[in-house]
Amino acid sequence: MARYTGAVCRLCRREGVKLFLKGTKCTSDRCPIEKRNFAPGQHGKDRKAKIVGYGLQLNEKQKAKRMYFTLEGQFREYYEKANRATGVTGELLIQQLERRLDNVAYRLGFAISRRQARQLVRHGHVTVNGRKVNIPSYQVSAGDEVAVRESARKLQIVEQGAQLAAQNPLPTWLEMNFDAMTGRVLALPRRKDVNLPVNEQLIVELYSK
Ligand code: SF4
Repeated sequence: MARYTGAVCRLCRREGVKLFLKGTKCTSDRCPIEKRNFAPGQHGKDRKAKIVGYGLQLNEKQKAKRMYFTLEGQFREYYEKANRATGVTGELLIQQLERRLDNVAYRLGFAISRRQARQLVRHGHVTVNGRKVNIPSYQVSAGDEVAVRESARKLQIVEQGAQLAAQNPLPTWLEMNFDAMTGRVLALPRRKDVNLPVNEQLIVELYSK
């Protein structure tokens, strides 16, 4: 499956905001956004024009796409599905992104970033209702039990993720037992349950042109 393999901090600098792609580095003074918050590349510093209209809509889409490590085709599919369903399109779009297994693994504290969580899933270290699932885009449902396999619980990224998650409040739609490294999806996430610096309405406007 295709995926972005470039330097992830460049993505934040391109958007001009922290996308929190590198775990603890993102909240430390080693974060490049703290040191040089301008677009990467030779002329990055010169790009100061205020972005409006189409550019703003495009930026919001890129930001969400990059935060969840999805590529254009898959992101567009999420939008199309949300658009066909009953409800608020933007909210349903965010809900599908949040329901991705790699995101749920990250939110539960199995890893310190979505990128690491994605790797954990791909390597077969995560189970859903007791069965191994190695598809990062797998959509969890309400009531699902999501766990780290016993053999992976001592991995450094899992221990670091658990330490970090224990210091922060868990999203209200999830519950977690850190002793058993097992979480549960209590309900599907609503927009107000998701802490995400993205204006999804701009994404809907972009795709509905
Ligand atoms: Fe983005 Fe984190 Fe890199 Fe900072 S450290 S630029 S927030 S990925």
